Amino acid sequence: MGRIALNDIRKSFGKTEVIHGVDLAVEDGELVVFVGPSGCGKSTLLRLIAGLDRPTSGTIEIDGADVTRHSAANRGLAMVFQSYALYPHMTVRQNLSFGLENTKMERAEIRRRIEDSARMLEIEELLDRRPTQLSGGQRQRVAIGRAIVREPSAFLLDEPLSNLDAELRVTMRAELAQLHERLGTTMIYVTHDQIEAMTLADRIVVLRKGRIEQVDTPLNLYNRPANLFVAGFIGAPN
Ligand code: ADP
Ligand code: MG
Repeated sequence: MGRIALNDIRKSFGKTEVIHGVDLAVEDGELVVFVGPSGCGKSTLLRLIAGLDRPTSGTIEIDGADVTRHSAANRGLAMVFQSYALYPHMTVRQNLSFGLENTKMERAEIRRRIEDSARMLEIEELLDRRPTQLSGGQRQRVAIGRAIVREPSAFLLDEPLSNLDAELRVTMRAELAQLHERLGTTMIYVTHDQIEAMTLADRIVVLRKGRIEQVDTPLNLYNRPANLFVAGFIGAPN
């Protein structure tokens, strides 16, 4: 569960192609980071994987099944954005359960999932509060909790920490790494922050202008960058 393959993915908006033929296989349980400058296509690729948008051509597979035409709801993935997008009029508990209540899931199962994820994220004490009564870091934990309760086959995170201050970002980065270790669920993590990429990733995908420049482990990218762009972006000596 959680293997994601992109086969020659292209995406145009109007007449402008912004993703120019991307091939990638993310293995089950892997934490892959998409990194690259603003506008290189990171969010677009993630939205295509999530099913929030459709590729102009190419196919997307999850666990070997072609899901290119499947809606977001039918892909079994969970997305976390940089804006917390919590419902301000609902409690934390209601924010966590939102969407699950419309399914056939038993109430006891919903409660179990909320309690498990709250414990994991150390937000048990906050379940009856509203988002306005939370700090930035607590809100981001709730946003991650909302993804966890879905028990997705993969998490898609689009610059989830970029609204937080530098200190909190370091803390949350470590927490996300722990979470990934504990859950063992595939994660695709988008950032323009090289340090975040180097510290979190099993493998880094370096994007530039809608193309993959290089895919490798942080160490190999650092030691053997394919070109000057990768070297410059990863921060290798030259
Ligand atoms: P990143 O997340 O790496 O900063 P994006 O994926 O948001 O980059 O954008 C990639 C390119 O696609 C940019 O040139 C952007 O302007 C363009 N783009 C993204 N979304 C749309 C859209 N809905 N309509 C038109 N152009 C878009
Ligand atoms: Mg983006």
